[in-house]
Amino acid sequence: MVIDEKQKNYKLSKKYILTITLSAIAIAIISSAYSLMIIDLVGQEYKVTNLGNVQSGYVIQNLRGDTIDTWLSWRLVDGATLDVNLIDGDKYPDKADIVRTVLLSNELIEIDNSLLHKGPRGTTSTYYLGWAGALASIKNPTEFHIPQKFNLIESAKGEGDITIKLVSQRNGDGYSGYTKSIADDAQNQILKSEITIFEVDKLSKAQFETILRHELGHALGLAHSTAPEDLMYPTIATDYPYISSCDIDAIVLLYDGGKKSEVTCDI
Ligand SMILES: [Zn+2]
Repeated sequence: MVIDEKQKNYKLSKKYILTITLSAIAIAIISSAYSLMIIDLVGQEYKVTNLGNVQSGYVIQNLRGDTIDTWLSWRLVDGATLDVNLIDGDKYPDKADIVRTVLLSNELIEIDNSLLHKGPRGTTSTYYLGWAGALASIKNPTEFHIPQKFNLIESAKGEGDITIKLVSQRNGDGYSGYTKSIADDAQNQILKSEITIFEVDKLSKAQFETILRHELGHALGLAHSTAPEDLMYPTIATDYPYISSCDIDAIVLLYDGGKKSEVTCDI
């Protein structure tokens, strides 16, 4: 009789533990499925897929036409405007809006660090869609004035501080975008930057937007980045090709006596 009672109690407690365990597992499965399906990660809508092999090249020439390898920056008086000329914009009317966004947008976006493989879910990094917005975010004075105002013009003539040429030809080296900066090498001063975007008819909207955003970085004085996740990496590989805080830091360093134009990103 006593033994029977003990066995009964033992069976009951075993059943109780099993029920609790199964309930806990069910709750865990439901809640993780819920978080995966229902809760979006901040910024995931900005992911760019199928960017493919978008490559960029750049060169610096002095006034004699020699290729030089040095750091360069614009020398502007405070508040001066850089004229950016979209040459042949009328031939590619669908591209003009994209050029406007990449150059003039002030929009900033937040992206979850887990999407960027930079940090835990729930923390974010800030990016900019346009260079005007990215550069306007720099508040501290620098040795040389950082360009912050841009005037977008469309003219078939080659005038403008920065020119953007859209061509249907393929580049012999396989570049989608190329920037040539003409410099006064005695002063490390950019006098003019000429951007060419190749095979413009074949580029998707995302490819065109990305390569132009990258080339404008060169036109402002940036060299390539050593970090594959950065916009300024020579073969653009990131799913989030926007202007990052490390691009902005590189601009600040370049215009504030850093005497280097490479982009280095420390996570
Ligand atoms: Zn490049």
